[in-house]
Amino acid sequence: MNEQESFRDHISTVNDKGKRVWVYPKKQKGRYYRARTILSVFLLAFLFGAPFIKMNGHPFILINFLERKFILFGFVFGPQEFYLLVLATISVLVFIVLFTAIYGRLFCGWVCPQTVFMEMVFRKIEYWIEGDAAQQRALDKAPWNGNKIFKKFSQELIFFLIAFLIGNTFIAYIVGTDRLFSVINQPPTEHLNAFIAVFVFSGLFYFVFSKFREQACVIVCPYGRLQGVLLDPNTVVVAYDNVRGEPRGKLETPKTTGDCIDCHLCVAVCPTGIDIRNGTQLECVNCTSCIDACDSIMDKVKFPRGLIRYASMNSIKDKSKFKITPRIIGYSVILTLLLTVLITLGSMRTEIDSTIFRAPGKLYQEQADNKISNLYMVKLVNNTYKDVPIQIKINNPDAELKIIGKDISLPELSVTETEFLILIPKDKIKTTLIPLTLQVIADGKVLNEIKTNFLGPNKQ
Ligand code: SF4
Ligand code: SF4
Repeated sequence: MNEQESFRDHISTVNDKGKRVWVYPKKQKGRYYRARTILSVFLLAFLFGAPFIKMNGHPFILINFLERKFILFGFVFGPQEFYLLVLATISVLVFIVLFTAIYGRLFCGWVCPQTVFMEMVFRKIEYWIEGDAAQQRALDKAPWNGNKIFKKFSQELIFFLIAFLIGNTFIAYIVGTDRLFSVINQPPTEHLNAFIAVFVFSGLFYFVFSKFREQACVIVCPYGRLQGVLLDPNTVVVAYDNVRGEPRGKLETPKTTGDCIDCHLCVAVCPTGIDIRNGTQLECVNCTSCIDACDSIMDKVKFPRGLIRYASMNSIKDKSKFKITPRIIGYSVILTLLLTVLITLGSMRTEIDSTIFRAPGKLYQEQADNKISNLYMVKLVNNTYKDVPIQIKINNPDAELKIIGKDISLPELSVTETEFLILIPKDKIKTTLIPLTLQVIADGKVLNEIKTNFLGPNKQ
């Protein structure tokens, strides 16, 4: 197999002996890189700032799997609304699949936290401390001396501090900033689990961004692994125009080969170490570095830009326009259905949910004070972040309500189930089935009106 074909049987970051090949991507510049840098500033500001945003005194985003508390963009998912969260997650997944089928891995290159942190934070620090790819290579090959020790130590220290910041932010998304600050302000022995979690996550992020790097995208990320089934020849990806570029050959006058001058700059800047000229590959995170690199070369040799560009395989092959495929239609229909169900269920949700019914299988009971009682069950769900005082009122002036056991209290994000009796004096009961309307009142507001029946004794 010749060199140009050898990419098919191994990944670029592993050599013949199965050892890791460290990638030293050359410093990037260009219009896409500038745009990604600007976007990353906003994304990082949001990522680090969101846990501090509060709405009505509660986090804007909270993803507490441990205590099953979820708030997304201020929308509280109550204890009985896990299905809404699942539906929202499925909708997001379908959206990603649909989006990928049309626009490829735009997400990976522009907004994925792995790429944003790696290329816009850690890589920039590396360039700042160690220099460009050639200097980094030279430093790694150089014997350990004062300069190397200082550069490597300070770089790894800064990496760990940033990983520690990311680890703390990650925990803040799970438990909220209030709890995180109380963990920070108290001795580690008082919050040993949280303390260990912060260090485990910090260590993990340090490992990923300092050592593991592009391997996370190449061999771990499930989204990356799915590209083979999500992409088709009409998907827009970062692509090399082989029709225009091949056969590649050095710059000469007159140029008898294609527009690719085989300068290898697109390979040198690639953070996953691949050659985009070999076609779409699973390793490609669509970061656009090779577009910028190739455009800079095209400018120098005075050829039109766009030898590497956003394009689909079909549009390169036969210069065809974007096509809506049956797969895109299918995904769109599924997504529309899911969103319709989600919006309908979301609009039907109530902050306090109540169910009241007469205890099944129970008849009336005769009480000592010449009254007849029926047993009822009540289930109340509080989907809000406040404690709510609850009252139940009956529309029948002869009826009296008696709570059994604990009073009805409804703490934040809780489910309460209790029982109560309704008592009616015997002489006021004229029929065996008395219709009743019960009002569930919270904070003086009628939340729900429930129709039920009261069972009385047979009148002879
Ligand atoms: S091939 Fe280009 S777009 Fe893909 S990862 Fe490498 S540099 Fe980024
Ligand atoms: S940067 Fe452009 S011209 Fe240079 S090798 Fe890559 S595709 Fe060819």
